[in-house]
Amino acid sequence: MFDKVLIANRGEIALRVHRACREMGIKTVAIHSEADREAMHVKLADESVCVGPNAANQSYLKIPQIIAACEITGAQAIHPGYGFLSENARFAEIVEAHGLVFIGPTAEHIRLMGDKITAKQAVKDAGIPVVPGSDGGITDIEEAKKIADEIGYPVLVKAAAGGGGRGMKVAQTPKDFREAVETASREAEAAFGDGAVYLEKYLGKPRHIEIQVLADQHGNVVHLGERDCSLQRRHQKVLEEAPSPALDTEARARIGEITRDAVAAIGYRGAGTVEYLYENGEFYFIEMNTRLQVEHPVTEAITGLDLVREQIRIAAGEKLGYTQDDITFEGWAIECRINAEDPATFAPSPGKVTEFHAPGGLGVRLDSGLYAGYSIPPYYDSLIGKLIVSGKTREETLLRLKRSLEEMVVGGIKTTIPLHLALLEEEAFRSGDYHIRWLESWLADRA
Ligand code: ADP
Repeated sequence: MFDKVLIANRGEIALRVHRACREMGIKTVAIHSEADREAMHVKLADESVCVGPNAANQSYLKIPQIIAACEITGAQAIHPGYGFLSENARFAEIVEAHGLVFIGPTAEHIRLMGDKITAKQAVKDAGIPVVPGSDGGITDIEEAKKIADEIGYPVLVKAAAGGGGRGMKVAQTPKDFREAVETASREAEAAFGDGAVYLEKYLGKPRHIEIQVLADQHGNVVHLGERDCSLQRRHQKVLEEAPSPALDTEARARIGEITRDAVAAIGYRGAGTVEYLYENGEFYFIEMNTRLQVEHPVTEAITGLDLVREQIRIAAGEKLGYTQDDITFEGWAIECRINAEDPATFAPSPGKVTEFHAPGGLGVRLDSGLYAGYSIPPYYDSLIGKLIVSGKTREETLLRLKRSLEEMVVGGIKTTIPLHLALLEEEAFRSGDYHIRWLESWLADRA
């Protein structure tokens, strides 16, 4: 096992990784930008290294500085968290070339899944159902138009390099087609330096269901069931739950097994998530994320496994040590993403936290680096914490979630806590009967 791990991230996820390391007896090295000098992950880590100025591309994304920080501190492995360099195949290669361990999949798998076109082909070959669409990227607009006619409108134009909901455009009718392709391609070229796009049938009211997998370096693979992430705004998840209120035992086992077998066939290692849209009893692959996900704690709550610990053990070459039969799902868990944003307009609200009180009690977990007196810098993502609540049943979990949200105090800035409280009053959410478009239409009605 490693003696020292460098955490190449910030915020709640840096803290999350630190906690797993601490419990495993591993020393931690935090990296930080100038703006993050006073951040909780820096305070708690055994050592810290400032890797650059405020902008992420000058600090958290600066590969040479991060490698240097490892060499200076003697860290043997790097945990990338999510975002930043976590899905950068080149980074994984550079880390390994320096004799360090990248806590994640191989560069080859990151690259394969990072391009949605190659990813879709690979999983399809491994037996996973995919959304009907163009087989591969589109090169000729007239050719593509024919394919779109065959798929049937509305058609979704998606960027191969897309992420975070960017590089996606709907063409409602043949008339909008050319414009959708051009906009999606331009957006993807600007954001990711790759304008390649492909076509997919646009599903109307699906749910977003994703399957968590763990694979060791010895060929053992398990799935840890699903998370339902259908509550989204601008294709970004707002609240996640496990299990999904929409799946029964049969559907869960079916998609779990298909996913696990495909991941094994691909030869994947590490933690990963296969994302699906689920409509009329059918699953359709949309992408695979080759990293820890923001919403991983709901899976931890119902399986009792520490996913970061598992990632570290796998990276160190250990065997899983359990089989699918040993994995059981107990109770219910819901995660609310708490952002430093206006709960009505979603305008960012960075600044000084004047007052802070964390909710607690049975079944309540708060992953957050906030403290009273901390100043949230304006340079990064607005996620400032995740409240994860679990209970024996969904009903119990909803009651617990309400009282925990009511207990939580974050003074001095605006947060999305009031949004989550309002959501809890909604029948569609309470009954679990919602799909990926529901939240946006609910928000539009309230505006
Ligand atoms: P990203 O990498 O940007 O997150 P995804 O492929 O994971 O892109 O899709 C993000 C979200 O976009 C999905 O959760 C869903 O809400 C929507 N979406 C993606 N593909 C489709 C599709 N074929 N039909 C309808 N909605 C889709």
